[in-house]
Amino acid sequence: MADAPAPAPRRGNPNGTILPLTGNKTRTPPPPRGLDAVFRPRSIAVIGASTRAHSIGGNLLSNLFRSGFTGKIFPINPHASVLHSVKCYPTVGAVPDEVDCAIVSVPKEHVLEVVADCARKGIRGLVVITAGFKEVGAAGAELERRLTELVRRKGMRMIGPNCMGVINAEPEYSMDATFSPTPASYGPLAFASQSGALGVAILNVAQSLKLGFTQFVSMGNKANVSSNDMLTYWEDDPRTRIIALYLESFGNPRRFVEIARRVTKKKPVLVVKSGRTVAGARAASSHTGALAASEVAIDAVLEACGVSRSDTIEELFDLASALASQPLPQGDRVAILTNAGGPAIMATDAVIQQGLRLAELSAGTRRKLAAFLPPEASLGNPVDMIASASDVNYGRAAKILLADRGVDAVLVINVTPVLYGPRTVWDALMAATSGSKKPVLSVFMANEAFYDEARSMPAHPPIYRFPEPAARVLAEMWKIGRWQKKPGGTFRRFRMRSTAIRRILARRKRRGGGYLDPDDAFNLLEAAGVPVARPAYVRREMDLPRRAREVGYPLVLKASGEKIVHKSDVGGVTAGIRDDAELAAAVLRMKTDLARHGALAQLEGFILQREAAGREIVVGATNDPKIGPLVMFGLGGRYVEIFKDVKFVLPPVTREEVLDALSRLKAGVLLSGVRGERPGDREFLVETVLRICQLTADFPDIAEMDVNPLFIAARGRRGVAVDVRVRVSGRDDVSHAG
Ligand code: ADP
Ligand code: MG
Repeated sequence: MADAPAPAPRRGNPNGTILPLTGNKTRTPPPPRGLDAVFRPRSIAVIGASTRAHSIGGNLLSNLFRSGFTGKIFPINPHASVLHSVKCYPTVGAVPDEVDCAIVSVPKEHVLEVVADCARKGIRGLVVITAGFKEVGAAGAELERRLTELVRRKGMRMIGPNCMGVINAEPEYSMDATFSPTPASYGPLAFASQSGALGVAILNVAQSLKLGFTQFVSMGNKANVSSNDMLTYWEDDPRTRIIALYLESFGNPRRFVEIARRVTKKKPVLVVKSGRTVAGARAASSHTGALAASEVAIDAVLEACGVSRSDTIEELFDLASALASQPLPQGDRVAILTNAGGPAIMATDAVIQQGLRLAELSAGTRRKLAAFLPPEASLGNPVDMIASASDVNYGRAAKILLADRGVDAVLVINVTPVLYGPRTVWDALMAATSGSKKPVLSVFMANEAFYDEARSMPAHPPIYRFPEPAARVLAEMWKIGRWQKKPGGTFRRFRMRSTAIRRILARRKRRGGGYLDPDDAFNLLEAAGVPVARPAYVRREMDLPRRAREVGYPLVLKASGEKIVHKSDVGGVTAGIRDDAELAAAVLRMKTDLARHGALAQLEGFILQREAAGREIVVGATNDPKIGPLVMFGLGGRYVEIFKDVKFVLPPVTREEVLDALSRLKAGVLLSGVRGERPGDREFLVETVLRICQLTADFPDIAEMDVNPLFIAARGRRGVAVDVRVRVSGRDDVSHAG
């Protein structure tokens, strides 16, 4: 019979069910609750089990046997009496024992009735493998809604539908409830994958890297259990040291941020978020039926909560396997140890490019190295032991570098020389560095035979083929370490004139939303506590000189008109006007310019504004339908769109987070006073960003706003907003659920 591999011989009881090997008849553990019912069951029913090889139901059953599940297994199939030498039941209701978890793999028409059976049986955990739900359209979505509702009403927890199953590799459970051909070993990684197909690839990569799991879960449509639930489940699990997620969508991004911010302080959370490109996003929506949120928003979300984002599964595993075997660096100073010059230059470039530094080796370290290295060796950093470097010397030198207090991490590079095979170098290196409190990453540029050999070695630290990925991993590890140590920061609330803000927004809202009148926009900003250079509107040209004296020179003249959106684009802004004569000339010139741009007919009047000085910054906000308010700031003025030097933050944010984002802006240096200039008032910018965060979080009717520019004056002098646009959400906007 062409069947799945035979299960290992087990003790059977008279019913044909399997007794747990570690079972203790006198003391039965209490029934597992919550997600434990799925991941830590005492007994599993496989509904839709079969012995047909290469069938999903067949693989599910044989994987449970192959993995050596420590609990009881009950195959359910009305058309069989025995499967894999185990008694088979027609329904879960017919099983004489208690059942904690059901793996459901029946045609989709039967899923609801089967789940209802499970509920009656008192089953608390469900893994629904069956596909044909939300991902196939409206009818499927309706079926999924009914399934989810049933599961929720009965207080069950469900993985899926449309998934590949779950694994708990902890030795107490040893449960592989997937139909994956590749098994998983036990280790420190917890993995949730939104794609089932990718799940198999993930298990394959993990196997080849000897990286083991606590739990692995293919999430499917996430109808009941979400990635957020999994994060929470793993947050305090002592055996899970690294959490990895492959995501196609965020169910509730705001909640994700809340949870991830907390979890990442305790253990690394690595994410591959697919749908980076527009085409990818479209594929994601047809694949799991999820709408991928906009890209910048996602990056902001992940950055805001200390998650390490990888572009590919390969990158994620590069990092995960380093985290599994190496401690986090305590600083950014890297020592490079090599036997060849070229790769050392590559490594140096990669280290610098990743924002790390080359360590300054101490005199003592150099002396110790000089004692046994040949005179041709280079004792600076990189330490080049030249091609004759022996395996023993690799070990010795690495140990000396690790002992240097100015070194936070060691990057070892070995190009296979003539005399020493990579394997002996590797062994010497491992013997010398294992257990080190500082990370050691290794790049071996060897032939395929070595990598093949490495695959058959017992679990070991990662071996990179090139310096670049190793440097990237080190940089990520440093980022993780820094994040974990970073103090939480403080959330500050500002006093605002809320009634005034509410009134302005309500008035626009009653008229169906849209852009606020310029006056209202300035009023709103002022009510939020942001200083503005109040514009004076002048309808008649003849009134200009009188009003100009009220505003005070030097001033700026701007064209005003409802249709004139970007004033400077049509010649509608003149700055630096010092007196009446200059004003008159500016008016003439502006009218000519407007005419040239075909905008003269749109001119309804003029704006006079006090001239501001300093650095031009943009602070804006947008209310993303999925994520809620996102606040952006960066290089402002007319070049916003050209340089795109901006950062997003996600309210609520702390002062420290804003400062951190600011330090990652290229324009950040503009505030620190370049070449003898007085440094800009950074504190004013930070406060303004925090105020806009609070404003948009408290008043979700603000669909979009742009303060551009906000002038940042020299430290100690007041900055001002000189141009503000605010759009109020209306009937056409999708409201977000908060
Ligand atoms: P728009 O964005 O519609 O073109 P702005 O009011 O933002 O119009 O003005 C455009 C540019 O003119 C600003 O980026 C800034 O360089 C300059 N500017 C505008 N108002 C002032 C002001 N009050 N003081 C100094 N410069 C100003
Ligand atoms: Mg502007």
